This record gives sequence, structure tokens and C-alpha cells, in this order.
Amino acid sequence: MASMLSSRDVSGFKFLFFIAIMYAIISLLVHSVLHMKFIKPLSIDAPLDRFSEARAIHHVAVLTKDGRQEGRPGLRKAAVYIKEQLEMLKERAESNIRVEVEETTINGSFNMIFLGHSISFAYRDHINIVARISSADLQETDPSVLINGHFDGPLGSPGAGDCGSCVASMLELARVTVESGWIPPRPLIFLFNGAEELFMLGSHGFMKTHKWRDSIGASINVEASGTAGPDLVCQSGPGSWPSEVYAESAVYPMAHSAAQDIFPLIPGDTDYRIFSQDHGNIPSLDIIFLLGGYYYHTSYDTLDKLLASSDAFECTHTRPGSLQARGDNLLSILKAFTNSSKLQSARERESKAVTSDYKDERAVFFDYLSWFLIFYSRRVAVVLHSIPIIIFFVMPFLLHFWDSRSRSCFAIFYDFVKGMLFHAAGIMLAIIFPIILSILQLFISNYALIWFAHPYLAFLMFIPCSLVGLLIPRTVWDCFPLSQDVSVIKKSEEALAEEARFWGAFGFYACLTSAYLVAGLSGGFLTFSVSASMLPAWIFYSLSIKSSDHQSLRSAVFYVIPLIPCLAYSVYFGGFLTQFVIEKMGMMGTVPPPYGYYVPDVVVAATVGVVTGWCVGPLIPVCSHWLARFSILQLLLHVSVLALALSSQFFPYSNAAPKRVVFQHTLVTTDVNRIVDSSYEFSVVDSNSLLFLFKYAPEVAKELHIGQELSFETANMSHRETWMGIFPVSLLFSQSLKFPARSDGILKRYRYFPHLSNYKPHTVSIDKSRRVYLEFYLGDLKEVWVAVLNITGPLSSWSFADNMLPAPETVDGGPPSYILRLSGNSQRNWTFWLEASSSDYLRVEVAVVDQVIDDEAKRLKGLFPEWADVIAYSSFMSSYIF
Ligand SMILES: [Zn+2]
Repeated sequence: MASMLSSRDVSGFKFLFFIAIMYAIISLLVHSVLHMKFIKPLSIDAPLDRFSEARAIHHVAVLTKDGRQEGRPGLRKAAVYIKEQLEMLKERAESNIRVEVEETTINGSFNMIFLGHSISFAYRDHINIVARISSADLQETDPSVLINGHFDGPLGSPGAGDCGSCVASMLELARVTVESGWIPPRPLIFLFNGAEELFMLGSHGFMKTHKWRDSIGASINVEASGTAGPDLVCQSGPGSWPSEVYAESAVYPMAHSAAQDIFPLIPGDTDYRIFSQDHGNIPSLDIIFLLGGYYYHTSYDTLDKLLASSDAFECTHTRPGSLQARGDNLLSILKAFTNSSKLQSARERESKAVTSDYKDERAVFFDYLSWFLIFYSRRVAVVLHSIPIIIFFVMPFLLHFWDSRSRSCFAIFYDFVKGMLFHAAGIMLAIIFPIILSILQLFISNYALIWFAHPYLAFLMFIPCSLVGLLIPRTVWDCFPLSQDVSVIKKSEEALAEEARFWGAFGFYACLTSAYLVAGLSGGFLTFSVSASMLPAWIFYSLSIKSSDHQSLRSAVFYVIPLIPCLAYSVYFGGFLTQFVIEKMGMMGTVPPPYGYYVPDVVVAATVGVVTGWCVGPLIPVCSHWLARFSILQLLLHVSVLALALSSQFFPYSNAAPKRVVFQHTLVTTDVNRIVDSSYEFSVVDSNSLLFLFKYAPEVAKELHIGQELSFETANMSHRETWMGIFPVSLLFSQSLKFPARSDGILKRYRYFPHLSNYKPHTVSIDKSRRVYLEFYLGDLKEVWVAVLNITGPLSSWSFADNMLPAPETVDGGPPSYILRLSGNSQRNWTFWLEASSSDYLRVEVAVVDQVIDDEAKRLKGLFPEWADVIAYSSFMSSYIF
């Protein structure tokens, strides 16, 4: 082999080795930052004036003993526990600090757009626990700071991360506040929110009814869309003051203003919108645990996932230190908010709204490896981010004058543009090659998402071929002559070409930065920092060439070194993003076949391609001289293909990266006590369909009498309407299946089922509109999560949501339908009226989700392998005409 390599090949390989080692070291550093290795969690006997992760974990342990879902006894127990803890604090508090603890019961009704769908809500008897901690000489008008976290759990999950961890942090923060001797200069309000998972009802109830709501001058929403890791500021606003306070005070800053640009694209919402947008314009921060998304809303979101660190390759996002970092950050931010002169109550905000800084647009901010945070206003960004593009345009003129006018400005500029196009082509190919490989992989493998439980496979497969894409344009560069007349210029053609490639790449990043700026987005700092770092790299490189009089490996190294801090940042941001995307692909929803099968793999391949492009791209203009060698490209391709072959040995799921399965026992009822149909329905939310599931879960298949020949053509498909109980999440499903089931288990357990009936005769008004008076009875169901009503027909008004109807939902050109979710206290009947604008019938479909499943269903659920996380519940469906 060695004899076949030229000396330039050998230099190329040497350089490749150097680059590989450099990125490996950077990646290790990034990995340890993302795994909180630099944060030492404090023990249970840490000083009382410090936030202690161990003490917070103790709260999580208590909270995760029972399921805290709406309708289950554990929710009540959690409320009692939280209240007890706060009452204990109240007793321990010194006389100069005042602790008020309240249990509030909330009721309400409103309309909201959620996941792009209009839904109406009516709720009653949900419980919030609210505590206010202030100095003893509190004025009731003092503006306050709110911190919110929810203690209710998602369906079927112990909710250790989501959001036991949030509540635990808040309890520990309340304790530190009372016991550290710090007297908050402005009151702190802790909202322990008892109904978030039912779509933000707890915060709505608080903002609509609580007596302290108008005092709030700033709010922090603590959430978890994973189980640990960096708790990222995902949203902030209105105005830039909240992020500014964060920037000044966070101990371990974790924030990217670009997150705000991406957040609207991710399905899901948090209480942040209630405080800062929907029902108040409180300056707010939305701080979310993002990694560990494998467990989010699954039965695996348990206490041990917050604690033990496991095999790094499995990427189990169990990171000791996560809660410590969150606690230290929150304490510091709370102190900064309460000390800020800009903290204003609702009334003060209103009166000053016209003149104040609230109108300031979104700032640009980002943390550097959670070590420090860079923050600048939009105004500064406008100036700063415009500089690269100006330099790009001015450079040809400067070179024209520098080289004693021997070169034409236009020719120089043309060559720059050519360099830019080449760089852009490289970046495009860096994205396209992994996409092609991923599609190829799907053809030879039995299933999608092969990298799901083993993210390193995605890196192994996609990075080398992405690099090939990045380098390919350089191999054909010589086929396109320069526009400059080489014969009259003192510089060598190679030097001119390199110059064109460098400034072209620089221009590429400068243009991207400007595009971001023009689009009004808050990112752009990434490409800005790339172009800003390329300048010193170019100067170092040029000086080194001048001193040694020729291009050498040494000069290439001189080019790389000044770029290292910027590359480390790219790897940090890109690594985080890739891991996040990989985890989320397990719950992104199945897009109907045939293309749906490819979507997650293509998305991950493209993400790795983009990240490789931005992490290695800045090196290309200079380093491709050494790297764009046929032998190197060959090696890279071999690695990709090898990884591809290797990947077929892996299974996409593990119990550290479970597949999500939804299992609904559907019971169609009539009257109060008859079941007319009973079936088991299954859905999955990623691109490996139910056929995959049953193939690899043979015991379940056997139990359901599924043979080898099961296909979607012959199987009983379940209709979307039967999943109404979990609307709009159900819209993420496709290709759900239905199997007959027995109902005697349910009949043994329950005597009465949900039922809707008239409680008095309907009335007709002068304009012919008809009002029907209805009573909704939930039977003797034990653990009701929610009841969903779907009303179709000429509905013109109702007794919910201040008589306002939500925008109608229509399915496949069907009649307009109105979705209403009822939650809380299933012991008491709901009474309400519906008004029809004509004499046509109103049709009401009802679905009630009960978390109790019968023994037969429980047994079936138990047959699923460990790599499948099964959320199971019963859904009672009935329909009525009025
Ligand atoms: Zn949550």
C-alpha cells in the first residue's frame, strides 16, 4: 500500500490524522460538557445556603412513588407532599421573612390553538399549590417574580424528569431562600402547577384568577422535554430584558437565541406562552431540559435516569450535575430578577409600555460550552453581522490597490464569486451525500432509524461521506480557469486560486449571516463567528507562507489553530443539535407511506451533513489542498460503507432508547351500561410501522393471532376518529391497527359508563336557534384523564369559553366540527348547553380516556419486549344526536 502512495498522499494522510485527532479532542471536550462532567453535584449535607442536587433528588424520589396523572390518587398525594414541605419551611422561617402557602382550586374554560388545531377547554377542580416568599415588610403592590413548574405527570409516565425534576428544584430553591438568610428584595412566587399535561390548564387558571397575578414582573417557566443535560433557554421575551438578566446572572449559561427561531417548528408548547403571550405579557424565560428525549413521556422517565451515568455509547442521558446546574442557575437568576430595577407589575408595565425597553427586539446570545455567555442587542447585531459582507465586497478593491493596481477589481471579484460557488457546492454535497447513503441504507436494511439507540452509527456512516462531498469541488477546481490574467501578476496561480477559494468561502458565511439578519431571526452568530475567525486564520497562514516561502503542512496547521475556538463552538452546537434531532425522531410521527418511511433517516443524515459542513467547512479553502486527494476520498468512502455494513448488525431500539407504542382499549358504549364493541388498537409514532413491531414482538403477535402474512392491505385499520381521546396528539399517527377484544374484564370492573343526555327540554328562540341542555355523566370510571367531545352540525354557540366557539376543524372536507376537552373531577356531572342555528341535528361524539385497563389488556401489555414503551389506556366512546 505504502508504495502506491505519492509523497503528497503521505502528507495528506498526515494532515488528515492531525485533523482527526483535533476533532476527537474537541468532541471529547464537548461530550463532557454536555454530560455535565464539570459540575459537581452537592450532597445531602451540603451547606444550607447552597442548592443541593441530592436534596432535590430526594423530592423526586418521593414524587415518583405514585403516578401523578390527572385522575389518579398520586396527583393528590404529590400536592399534599409539596404543601407539607412548604408549610415546614414556613415554620422554620425567621421573623424577617414571610412565607405564605396556598392551595388553590382552579376552574375555567377557553379556546386555544394547539399544534395548529383549535381546541376548546373546560376544566374544574384542578389544584395548584402557590407559595409566596418575601420580606416581612412586603407591600402588596411590590412587583414579584414567578417561577412555575408542573407536578402533574404525562399519561403513562412516572415523570421523574418531566417534571418531578422541576418541582424538586423549586422546593429546594424555596428552602434555600428561606434558610440562607437571603431576604428577597421583591417577593418570589412559586407556582407548583397541577395541570400542565392537559395543555397548560394550571397556568391558565392561575393567570385568570389568582390574586397575585398582576404583581408579577418576570416569570421563569421550568420544563423538561428530556430528562437531563443542559437546561436550555428555549424562549425568552417579550423584549430582551429577560435574556439580558439571564446573560448577566446564569452560573452555567446554556442558551442560544437561535433556539427561539427553531422552537415554533417543534410540536409542543409550554406554560411560557400562557405567561408571556396568551394571558399576560410578562417578561419570561422558558428553561427546558432538552436531552434524554428518549425517555420523555415514556414509562422510562424514572428517578434512576436522573442519577446513574451509563455507557457513553448508549448515550443514556443520565447526567449527575444536571439538577445542580439548574438549581445554581435558577437561584442566581431569581436573585438578579428581584434586584433588577426593570421589574414592574402589570400596571406599571402598561403605563410605560410605549416608552420602555420592552419594545426592544430580540437580542442575540449564545453560551460558549456553558462557560460564559455572549450577549448583544439586535442593534449591535445589525452592525456587527454586516461587517463580513462589507469586507467581502471591499476586499477586491483593497487587493487591487495593494498589488499596485496590476489586478483588475472585477476579475478578483469574479474569482471570489467562483470560490464562493465552489464552497457552496461543497456544503451542498456534504448534505446530499449522507442523504443518498441513508436512502441506500434503508434499501439494504430491514428497518429505519438504525442509529436511534446507537447515535455513533449515524456519525460513522454520515460524517466520512459528508467530508467526501465537501472535498469533491476542490478536485475539479483546476478545470475552471481564473478570470484574472495570471501572466501580469506577481503571484503564482496557485496562490491566486487559494485566495479566491478563501475569500469565496468567507463570502459564503458572510452572505448567510446577512441573510439571517435580513430575515429578522436571532441566530446568525454561528456563521458570523466562522467568518470572524477565518480572518486571523488567513493572516496567520499568509505570514507563515511568507516566512517559509512555500505552502507546507506547517502553514496549513497555522491556518487551523486560530480557528479552533470557533470550531469547538460549532462542534458543541452541532453535536447538541444532532443528538437532539436523533432523540426526537423517535416521536416525530409517522408520515404516511411510501415516503414517510424515509423521512427520519433523511432528516438525521441531512442534519449530520449540515453539521459536518459547518464544523469542517471553514478549513476547506486552505486544507483541501492536502485533503482532496483521491486516496483520501477513497478511504473516507470505505469508512462510510464499512459503517453502513456494520449498522445492519444493530437493532434500532433498546431499553435505553425505547420505541413508543400507544395501546388503546376502545370500548364503544350505548346507554349507561352497555358495551357494543370492544377492540385493541395500536399505534406507533416513528417510521418503523406496526408490522415491524409485531414482527419483533412475537409473543404479542401470537396473542393477537397475527400470522406472518400480516399486511396493511389485509389488516383491520383503525380509524383516526377512534383516537379522539388523545386529540390532537393522535394526528401524529398513521397506519394504526385494530384487533377484536373481549369486554368482560371491563364489565366486571365498571357498572356505568359515560353518558350524555338532555336534562331539560330544548328551547327555540325567535331567530329559530335551538338550545339543547345537556348533562354529561362519567359513569363509575376510576382514573379519568380527559373527556373529549367532538360536536358536528350547525353549532352556533355554547355555554363554554365565554360563549365563543373555536375555529372549526374539518377532516377531509367533512362537516365543521368543534373539539372540546373536559377535565377534572369526574365524580360530578357536567351540565351545559349547545345552540344550533338551524333545526338540523347536532351530533356529539364522546371519548373518555381512563387510565385503568383490564387484566387481559394488562397481560397483553406485559408481553411486549423491553425495547418497547407501551402507553396503555382505555377509551370509552359513545355518540349522540340532539
Ligand atoms: Zn412537562
